[in-house]
Amino acid sequence: MKIKLFIMGAYQENCYVVFCEKTGKAFIVDPGYFNVQLADYIEENKLDIQFIILTHAHGDHIGGVEEAKQKFDAPVYIHKEEASILRNAEKNASIHIWGRKISIEPDRLLKDGEVIEVGEMNLKIIHTPGHSPGCICIYAGTVLFSGDTLFADSIGRTDFPESSTEAIIKSIKEKIYTLPEDTQVFPGHGPSTTIGYEKKHNYFVRAD
Ligand SMILES: [Zn+2]
Ligand SMILES: [Zn+2]
Repeated sequence: MKIKLFIMGAYQENCYVVFCEKTGKAFIVDPGYFNVQLADYIEENKLDIQFIILTHAHGDHIGGVEEAKQKFDAPVYIHKEEASILRNAEKNASIHIWGRKISIEPDRLLKDGEVIEVGEMNLKIIHTPGHSPGCICIYAGTVLFSGDTLFADSIGRTDFPESSTEAIIKSIKEKIYTLPEDTQVFPGHGPSTTIGYEKKHNYFVRAD
């Protein structure tokens, strides 16, 4: 598995292109913006984009979804409890972030525990409500794409109308901190970290 990071837009959102080196089959996590660097990287590496997967539907994570979908003819995956936010430009705040309304109809609704095969990679969908009701983390064996649920030394904001502080703490303790400690975590903003590090040092949620 190879992971390429693109930092997108004013919110410094992390978009990841992930691919199976053997088959060239790939997926994009959270295209917060679409630019020529992203398109060139995918073309130069001859990647076969299977889908675009969204950790949640906030505007900073979805600004490039429509262009990426069109360019790579790729379906959009999101958790079922996040679909209404993806469809609603007020709820996803795209109008405030991009000055335009983004309303996207997802192609596939994900649920907790579901496993998706991409080439020789297996992705497990972990529903982690809190920052947003349909937040997911994507677990791919040795790595976790944590969206805005878990950051290095921090956790996602819970001051949005549909957020819940209680839920994000429960999600992290019960569903994320129970993963192997050496799992590398790639968040929606900021540097990567590990489960073991966060369990010991995260100021907001420590392991019990
Ligand atoms: Zn967010
Ligand atoms: Zn974000």
